[in-house]
Amino acid sequence: MRFDEFNLCNEVLDGLDAMNFEKATPIQEVAIPAILDGEDILACAQTGTGKTAAYVLPVISQLQEGNYPHNAVNAVIMTPTRELAQQIDQQIEGFSYFLDISAVPIYGGTDGIVWEQQKRGMEMGADILIATPGRLLSHLNMLSADLSQVSFFILDEADRMLDMGFYDDIMQVFKELPKTCQILMFSATMPDKIKQLAQNILKKPRMIEL
Ligand code: AMP
Repeated sequence: MRFDEFNLCNEVLDGLDAMNFEKATPIQEVAIPAILDGEDILACAQTGTGKTAAYVLPVISQLQEGNYPHNAVNAVIMTPTRELAQQIDQQIEGFSYFLDISAVPIYGGTDGIVWEQQKRGMEMGADILIATPGRLLSHLNMLSADLSQVSFFILDEADRMLDMGFYDDIMQVFKELPKTCQILMFSATMPDKIKQLAQNILKKPRMIEL
């Protein structure tokens, strides 16, 4: 399926053109229309399948076209590691080249300068946070992050986050989100604890298993 067959905004299609992305991968074919339809998602997806674009493209397209507040965080992507946060940030930068959207990676294990940079990025109105759970909680506790306007909450590599002991942190972040938030959960494996987390936070999710 070609990307212009989805209901993505023109600026996103121009970005995909510039990056020479021609055809959607299988997970993108299923996930993009479901996300544009407003569904919660539980997707079993490995790295390398195009799972990042599967959620980033419909989210940034909606942020570009919809009536979302500027100067507020509209989407939060949770990831297990700093490296993954940085990779997702780079992909978003490419996809949103023709859009008026900004993203800030929020991760720990760094010095005070990075904390200040992250804080300033949020103060300047970042639309998307790409965050490791512990560091996002620290910003919430220090009142330097406000999630009251979030419309999209994404858990990437959810199984790895639970293996690293982030269940409680994820639930604490979840409590800060509006109840109307659309939630997209991606996991390479589906052990019972992932199903349990999904049951706790997702609303009638579309299951995607390819
Ligand atoms: P991911 O599974 O999200 O880690 O993506 C793996 C790699 O595939 C990344 O470098 C993406 O930029 C690339 N990619 C994702 N979707 C497509 C696509 N439809 N066409 C070509 N490359 C893609």
